[in-house]
Amino acid sequence: MSPAPYASDPHRSRGRRHPEPAAPTRTGFQRDRDRIVHSTAFRRLVYKTQVFLNHEGDLFRTRLTHSLEVAQLGRSIARPLGLNEDLVEAIALAHDLGHTPFGHAGQDALNDCMQPHGGFEHNLQSLRVVDQLEERYPLFDGLNLCFETREGILKHCSRANAQRLEEREPGGVGRRFLDRTQPSLEAQLCNLADEIAYNAHDIDDGVRSGLISLEQLEEVQLFERFRRLTLAEHPQLQGRRLLYESIRRMLSAQVYDVIDATQEALRASGVASADAARAAGPLVSFSAPMAAQSGQLKQFLLRNLYRHPQVTETTGRAKLVVRQLFDAYAADPAQMAGGFDARQDRERAVADYIAGMTDRFAAKEHERLTGRALLP
Ligand code: MG
Repeated sequence: MSPAPYASDPHRSRGRRHPEPAAPTRTGFQRDRDRIVHSTAFRRLVYKTQVFLNHEGDLFRTRLTHSLEVAQLGRSIARPLGLNEDLVEAIALAHDLGHTPFGHAGQDALNDCMQPHGGFEHNLQSLRVVDQLEERYPLFDGLNLCFETREGILKHCSRANAQRLEEREPGGVGRRFLDRTQPSLEAQLCNLADEIAYNAHDIDDGVRSGLISLEQLEEVQLFERFRRLTLAEHPQLQGRRLLYESIRRMLSAQVYDVIDATQEALRASGVASADAARAAGPLVSFSAPMAAQSGQLKQFLLRNLYRHPQVTETTGRAKLVVRQLFDAYAADPAQMAGGFDARQDRERAVADYIAGMTDRFAAKEHERLTGRALLP
């Protein structure tokens, strides 16, 4: 499929912050994806929790497998829409690089600790990782990615932080949060692919962990529709295969729904360039009925999985680990390795250090510093 006129074109990129000669065989977006795959932060995603703590079992998603699933779904949708698949893949693989250990619990705890010092936002942290924290190149900090990749990584940003970014980089990736415009279609697509991926894999992990049951899922229209269709065709099917087949059909239906609804929105908008798409309001979306069903599924997972007593009990301890790590390093920065101890912006250095940790390194460090094992 040839690129659509509204696709991001690597040959018309707004470029890198530090100019570099083009690669002989790869576009800028392909090169960005490769830089992300080789980064330290990317490798650590394998030991970071998505919902279940990493040590609770080897069967559950981690941030790495989640990111790969987002990239797969993103590419599947990008291709028929004529969007740039390489950019989608780069953004998808990088979108969670700034996540703390212990999933949302770790991030909430770190944000609390950082309230007096400018807060902590994981999207902004993903951007910090690729702009500043990776140390791989002789002449600059970070990975020096293309504007379009960085724009996609910064999915949300508070106005205050957008203003700070704008001061450092006028007209850069913070600008759209002040102008209230959209990112590229590829970035919009990654946001939706993220949602499709976690809704589906959290059902899977939730059921296999025993925290939610197939019976409970009967109230979720989107899942129940495909469970019934599966059983109509395969009346004997049960257990794992019934679960997987229902999820597989649900994923396909969502992918085709996004493709159809987005094609329709693009046609109606008449946009003919990537920049016109940025100015046109959100264009990549579900149809209205699918958006409602996806919302219902999300609510179900919130009530029955993310707030399940067994999940909140461990995440409660994880929050305490992050809080106590923060206090220990802030009081004695020499406890941090890797040059973080020498930084003048002490609290931000502590936040960067903790955010970069895997679940098990954070638990080990906590035990070393406090003598208590909260997450054995
Ligand atoms: Mg994600």
